[in-house]
Amino acid sequence: MIYFDKVSKVYPGDVVALADLSFAIEPGEFVSVVGHSGSGKTTLIKMILAEDVPSMGQVFFESSDIHKLNHKELPKLRRRIGSVFQDFRLLPNKTVYENIAFTMEAAGRTDEEIASDVPHVLELVGLGNKLWSFPRELSGGERQRVAIARAIVNQPDLLIADEPTGNLDPLNANDIIQIFKKINDIGTTVLLATHDKGIIDSLGRRVLTLENGRLIRDNKQGRYVL
Ligand code: ADP
Ligand code: MG
Repeated sequence: MIYFDKVSKVYPGDVVALADLSFAIEPGEFVSVVGHSGSGKTTLIKMILAEDVPSMGQVFFESSDIHKLNHKELPKLRRRIGSVFQDFRLLPNKTVYENIAFTMEAAGRTDEEIASDVPHVLELVGLGNKLWSFPRELSGGERQRVAIARAIVNQPDLLIADEPTGNLDPLNANDIIQIFKKINDIGTTVLLATHDKGIIDSLGRRVLTLENGRLIRDNKQGRYVL
């Protein structure tokens, strides 16, 4: 589904964020990218979301070179990817329901679909009773669950999460990881970037380890050794 072919990213000032990175992610996999802060995890994700371009090499989504897509094809690709970030990125003046409805409207979904899917997706993340709350009325863990519901409501093929547990305590972090597992079990490919060793070791799925932008380990057994 995703294929990195000898990808390097050098930022101005000779900062090597990614160095000659090659790997593939197959449909249905749950892959974690781990490494210390500054090892290149966010840069790797930006390459897939086309928020930044590689200095060398190519990034493919299925058979398409992401960085060669035109202005019509790129939005189509982005709709196939759901994303979740450390800081939740919810709209503060909208309710939980409206935050998710907004994303569905942008994707051209009908009012009927919105009315039936929003409660359903919130049920899936365990927030069926928070439809009319505002983000400020929710805990960090609940906010992240809204963000996850929003990321999956349009049924993306790939869910990307960049440090989704960075602002959460260990208990809430574990809940979030269990939700990702559930989403993966129903067929969505998941790519999780984190520097949190604890959550990775309990996950038992494939782990890619980055060090100074290099892929130093690709462990199918899912242990984070640094
Ligand atoms: P991580 O997400 O693993 O913490 P990043 O991908 O954010 O790592 O960063 C990798 C390296 O690239 C770091 O040295 C960081 O300082 C540098 N970097 C990231 N973004 C930029 C940028 N826009 N300009 C310059 N350097 C950057
Ligand atoms: Mg990062």
